Amino acid sequence: MRLSSQQIRTYKQAVLLTAKKAYDEKLMAGTSGNLSIFCREEGVMVITPSSYDYRIMEEKDIVVVDLEGRVVEGCHKPSSEWRMHGEIYKHLPHVGAVVHTHSPYATSFAVNHQTIPVILIEMIPFLKGSLEVSPYAEQGSAQVGLNAVPILKRKNACLMANHGVVAVGQTLDQAYINSVYAEDTAKIYHMALSCGQPVVIPGYEGE
Ligand code: 13P
Ligand code: ZN
Repeated sequence: MRLSSQQIRTYKQAVLLTAKKAYDEKLMAGTSGNLSIFCREEGVMVITPSSYDYRIMEEKDIVVVDLEGRVVEGCHKPSSEWRMHGEIYKHLPHVGAVVHTHSPYATSFAVNHQTIPVILIEMIPFLKGSLEVSPYAEQGSAQVGLNAVPILKRKNACLMANHGVVAVGQTLDQAYINSVYAEDTAKIYHMALSCGQPVVIPGYEGE
């Protein structure tokens, strides 16, 4: 691997910091969710370990894995969703980071297989439109990622049926903020539905 140990440290620190932030923001409960940065030149992902408590996670616990799931560096199993992350990176050259959460409001709509229309201004610049739902696939399968790819070609986040949210960005900070807006959008849509009839932003009705 041509990555310097300092570069790897920087990526691991970013993954760790963002994972803890997402946990503190209640985007991830228990050990659910995972996130990664892709080093495209080296073909390796820096990814959270599988089923590991975010509260005690340290830099040394972050795993470096190639697109075939071979651990290049690390003492834990990589996230069980490494195939999903890998398929997204393989199919979407503009993506440099993936954040997957089970954030509760957004996941409620994912459970209902219900698209969230463009009802908030942030959905336009951040999410690139409505929050669509990708078809269900078994946890850990490549199909989870393959099902999301057609939506993520056009959007920065999507709901995954009966599962959660996947958000992408060129950088981890961008992917993270997109996952925050996916949850915020779902929360506000839920509240708006409970007290009235949400109105779609003009011009985005067919989105
Ligand atoms: P991991 O702990 O293996 O990353 O799995 C969490 C998850 O969200 C599965 O979809
Ligand atoms: Zn998940």
